[in-house]
Amino acid sequence: MGLNVVMMGPPGAGKGTQAARLARQRGVPKISTGDMLRDGIRDRNPVALKAKALMDMGRLVDDRTMIAIVRERLSRPDTAHGFVLDGFPRTVSQAQALDSLVASNGNGPLVIVDVTVPEDELVRRLATRRICESCGTTADPADPAVPGAAGCPGCGGTLVQRIDDDARVVLERLRVYEESTRPVLEFYRSRPAFRAVNGAQSPECVAQELESVIEQASAVPASFGRSQSRESE
Ligand code: AMP
Repeated sequence: MGLNVVMMGPPGAGKGTQAARLARQRGVPKISTGDMLRDGIRDRNPVALKAKALMDMGRLVDDRTMIAIVRERLSRPDTAHGFVLDGFPRTVSQAQALDSLVASNGNGPLVIVDVTVPEDELVRRLATRRICESCGTTADPADPAVPGAAGCPGCGGTLVQRIDDDARVVLERLRVYEESTRPVLEFYRSRPAFRAVNGAQSPECVAQELESVIEQASAVPASFGRSQSRESE
């Protein structure tokens, strides 16, 4: 049975870093909707270019567009043994659509992990983090060598600040998270495969905690998960 993980958490919680590590370890694709949109912008894809203005303001791209992007991505054969989703779902409608997609694709149950970090720490991290212009890797803000470092630790490309990591846009992204994405946690919270991890630790400690909660959560029988979630709707 595949491992299907949904990484939840506010911007700056470290979901992307942890999702990449977990996906690599488990040999499943990491599906980051933010990365897909940024790649699309680099490739001059019309849908992504249309989304850019909203992204730059820290707003969400519409559900229809995002669900279509994820539907297409989850239909590819590399997701047959699972996936790690990062940045989706961000609204309750997206979460409902994901349940239907997973049910119709015959994927196993979802393990939902909420990475929690206090807001002042998020603001600090987002102000210092950098992204590689060439490969899109996020440079780890906890690494003292990163801010102002010569280049991407992966490919040597130039590290830049994301437009939406600008201080004013960060506050808007945190507001949008509270308004639209926090309700998704309530949608998932009663499921037996919902877990929280403390994201305010070193990336290595978060990774260890993540591994252990995933082990526990994936041991929950699938039928139990489904009946529980139906009862809670
Ligand atoms: P991220 O890299 O996940 O922080 O995403 C960057 C930006 O892409 C977000 O601020 C949104 O504008 C857009 N985006 C990414 N994923 C979604 C989604 N699931 N729903 C709506 N907008 C999204």
